[in-house]
Amino acid sequence: MELTALESQFQELETPFYYYDIDLLRKTLVEVNKNIAGRPFQVHYAVKANVNTRLLVEIKNQGFGADCVSGNEVKRALEVGFPKEHIVFAGVGKTDKELQYGLENEIFAFNVESLQELQVLDELSGSMGKQSRYALRLNPNVDAGTHEYITTGKRDNKFGITFDEVREALPIIRELKNTSFIGIHFHIGSQISDISKFRDLCLKINDIHDFLAAEGFELPHINVGGGLGINYEDPINEPIPDFRTYFDLFERELKLRSGQTLHFELGRSLVGQCGSLISRVLYNKPGEGTNFLILDAGMTELLRPALYKAYHYVQNLSRVDNPSTYDVVGPICETSDAFARRIQLPESSRGDIIALRSTGAYAEVMSSRYNLREIAPSVFSDDLK
Ligand SMILES: *Cc1c(COP(=O)(O)O)cnc(C)c1O
Repeated sequence: MELTALESQFQELETPFYYYDIDLLRKTLVEVNKNIAGRPFQVHYAVKANVNTRLLVEIKNQGFGADCVSGNEVKRALEVGFPKEHIVFAGVGKTDKELQYGLENEIFAFNVESLQELQVLDELSGSMGKQSRYALRLNPNVDAGTHEYITTGKRDNKFGITFDEVREALPIIRELKNTSFIGIHFHIGSQISDISKFRDLCLKINDIHDFLAAEGFELPHINVGGGLGINYEDPINEPIPDFRTYFDLFERELKLRSGQTLHFELGRSLVGQCGSLISRVLYNKPGEGTNFLILDAGMTELLRPALYKAYHYVQNLSRVDNPSTYDVVGPICETSDAFARRIQLPESSRGDIIALRSTGAYAEVMSSRYNLREIAPSVFSDDLK
């Protein structure tokens, strides 16, 4: 349902809050499942994008696995009921305690990001009497063409192991007794809108895959990570990303061997568009060449604009007429606490309901209590009248 139709119901609630359109989430998940059906593809949800239990349950019910980046995410995924054989644990700095937690719970695999971590995993597995499985996260040196803070697959990023290092480490890899090499893992960045970047990734994977096969490694899993972007400019007309083009590209470009499964770890593209941060206009205040619209939501509820100058579509749900120029800002004592500068909105005043769209991913999970603010609650479409 379009958000403007919910304005009067939103008026009755205390703001700010995170609103989730469960119907859109379901449609998005169904669309993914439609596109992977009949292919040796498996999608894991990148839990870090949003750990809201209500969303996790929907995602689990649709048959997705969970890709976790901390021990607590693994714990949350298990609590929600993701089967342990569909949980993987990634991250460049897993502590011994976190590794042990994953081992104790016999999760499917660890995505290992350094050779030292691999040795620690092998030792811990041995001391706990467990046989674990791992995929090596490789750094393909592909530029994802996205913001530098969300680029992860370039040589100068902290993530993964380079191809040269893998070559040198093969003798060590062959020696490890307590953990099994089951796959290779990649993740080149997030909010990737230029789909040809994924083609670049496939070409790199094909090369290293051939090399490892020639060295005698038969890897049942290839994991290409996540990163598919969403349309932040126009969430109303493109609520569901183009999954078909995305999955078709991998089917066409990535050379899978028989019996292999291709894993995807999608975060933003699954949950991004189903969420909106709902807030109220507190005050209007004239500024230099603009007008400040001061909301009751700020960087404590939506950090992305302050963190990486991200754009979110701002929508006044209470009015449609008389456009005027605004700087839309939050109440926090930081100049970076601004959502949008010099944008056109209908003439807005105190009490209007403002939606910051596309906040299903990397919003609620990054909320903080800075300025000792309350953590904003979440409201779900199917709980409204
Ligand atoms: C963050 C992350 C993802 C998900 O990225 P999206 O851009 O949200 O799809 C997948 N894999 C790894 C390893 C990640 O760190």
